[in-house]
Amino acid sequence: MQIQRSLFDDFENNDNVAEQPVKKEQPTGDEARIIELRDLLNHHNHNYYVLNQPTISDQEFDRLMRELQDLEAAHPEMADPLSPTQRVGSDLSHGFEQVLHERPMMSLGNSYSIEEVQDFLRRAKDGLGGEQVEIVGEMKYDGTSISVIYENGRLVRAVTRGDGVRGDDVTANVITIRSIPLQLPQDLDYPSRFEVRGEILMPWASFERLNKERAFNEEPLFANPRNAAAGTLKLQNSAEVARRGLDAYFYFLLGDNLPFSTHTEAMEAIKSWGFKVAHTETLESIDAVSDFIERWDKDRKSLPVATDGLVFKLNSMRQWRNLGATAKSPRWAIAYKFAPERECTKLKSVSYEVGRTGVITPVANLEPVLLSGTIVKRASLHNEDIIRQLDIHDGDMLYVEKGGEIIPKIVGVDIKQREPNSQPIKFVTHCPVCGTPLQRIEGEAAWVCPNKWECKPQITGRIEHFVARHAMNIDGIGEEVAVQLHESGLVNNIADLYDLTIEKLVSLDRFQLKSAQRIMRGIEQSRQVPFERVIFALSIQFVGETTAKVLARNVHNIDRLMEMSAEELAAIPEIGPKIAQSIVEYFAVESNRDIVERLRWAGLQMALSEEELANRTTKLEGKKIVISGVFQHHSREEYKAMIEQNGGKNVGSISKATSFVLAGDNMGPAKLEKAKKLGIDIINEDQFLSMLDSE
Ligand code: AMP
Ligand code: ZN
Repeated sequence: MQIQRSLFDDFENNDNVAEQPVKKEQPTGDEARIIELRDLLNHHNHNYYVLNQPTISDQEFDRLMRELQDLEAAHPEMADPLSPTQRVGSDLSHGFEQVLHERPMMSLGNSYSIEEVQDFLRRAKDGLGGEQVEIVGEMKYDGTSISVIYENGRLVRAVTRGDGVRGDDVTANVITIRSIPLQLPQDLDYPSRFEVRGEILMPWASFERLNKERAFNEEPLFANPRNAAAGTLKLQNSAEVARRGLDAYFYFLLGDNLPFSTHTEAMEAIKSWGFKVAHTETLESIDAVSDFIERWDKDRKSLPVATDGLVFKLNSMRQWRNLGATAKSPRWAIAYKFAPERECTKLKSVSYEVGRTGVITPVANLEPVLLSGTIVKRASLHNEDIIRQLDIHDGDMLYVEKGGEIIPKIVGVDIKQREPNSQPIKFVTHCPVCGTPLQRIEGEAAWVCPNKWECKPQITGRIEHFVARHAMNIDGIGEEVAVQLHESGLVNNIADLYDLTIEKLVSLDRFQLKSAQRIMRGIEQSRQVPFERVIFALSIQFVGETTAKVLARNVHNIDRLMEMSAEELAAIPEIGPKIAQSIVEYFAVESNRDIVERLRWAGLQMALSEEELANRTTKLEGKKIVISGVFQHHSREEYKAMIEQNGGKNVGSISKATSFVLAGDNMGPAKLEKAKKLGIDIINEDQFLSMLDSE
């Protein structure tokens, strides 16, 4: 598998500054002025957006910018996508290409108390055979993570975290963020290639301005700056991104053979190269950690950007390498989440919502209360068991918390304030929408309305799920439109979507031609959506995105999936009996089989593509493989992809269960020793490749 290259590849060799200066003729006249202006504007940009210390007036800045724009217009041969004039973005729309990360982007383990941080430090020390550790504390910025690659001082690619292995190439949007350097000053000493990771944020001020505008335009508001930042970064219009005023703080430097041995050194370095970095402090003792937490829990409220906690990291990069990572997060860093804000408010009533799979969710309607900056009126009670556990009575005073700052959660009852005769909440026995008696699935906390094919919210819920971004990605059908399509009789099930026409859509009440065209375009494009997402889109109970992927990879086509017995399905690794049963039940319903046939007829992908099939083998079936060291023929990521394509699993650390280690040069000494101790085979690149070549 090829790692996607950047959209700036063409420019990559133009200034090979750090490596070997290419002999160019001395630029003269306009050409020289363009270069000078670019440097000058980059410099003032850094003063303004990173250091917050402008040294020239806005008017002067604008004048220089205009001069550069004019000169560039007169010299198209000098165009450069990283010129400061390009910060304004473009309104050309472009989809996002998916790119493999060179190194996976992991998440962080969480802790909620100083004791848990202490446990983390103890585990780290143990893992290092009792070595001393130095701790650094940082803000945990609450935005959306980004990986940015620089080659010879030029930004070449910016990719979102995505699923950690693969993300969206959002370079065009990222270059509009003023505080991110596009071209590092040429006289500095940075590696010829490196990656920085950080958080893209929407500062409170931009967030408030944006929501005010949206309220004025009667557009839906963003719940918090994190959603606003993530939403903005995925816009198809970089001019709009530029306008929204994003910012970015960086907190990791990665690369081959970096000349730093500690995290703080690396952060100092990237700061000197022009990046805005996370506030980092070295903490000498656990008491210092404790003080740091206490101080920042207060002080963070006056920061210009949202934070949802702190991050503690070991400072030594050698220790990072020695500790490695679990499947999800590094062992040398941990997030500390601030205690959420809590309020007490009165329960007015409980209402019940019906989801697309018929699951009934109880919702508490509350006396409005202000919590972490927003007014809370409703909170999910999840299921009957939770209502019982909390022992909620009618009219109780409830404690409400906001965890991840968005979704309010009921965490308890103030019994002292309970009315003497109030009764415990009684869960509904019948569907609040269609009146059907509810059923409880064995082993599950949820009550379900079994009237799958006629209960309205289930029908519209499935339509909404089908069109969702991670499913068929058909734009323009939100909740309201789904209900409208259903109520007008046009769409009773997902297959009916493919009978829609522009004429039918515009015949609906208040339906604009533009919206109709957008929907039809989405429907057209959905025919190319890969098989695994089609499986996910069907709304088979318990079949989420990951399960759908597993099914596609193992079953290859829909016909086979429809035929398989529960036993056969449950024999697939990662598919449990509950999922297997649910799949069989889904396809046992005649109308579901009809829907599948109609979707096939409509041209949806009902099998893995030839290409996906061709590359897959079972040569490494069931093998757990650790990759370590530096390779000659392929990158680590390519080896990882090969392992997966051949049915194996790439795991992070060596254990008794490891099948073998695929080792390149300079395998980590700790890993080598562990493999030897456990008697695990070490296989080199050539051996591995011939293993895949053999029959
Ligand atoms: P979580 O998404 O809760 O697992 O937390 C991990 C995420 O925290 C990372 O992927 C980063 O996007 C984000 N983050 C914010 N600030 C920092 C920081 N100072 N160091 C590391 N990660 C950070
Ligand atoms: Zn119902």
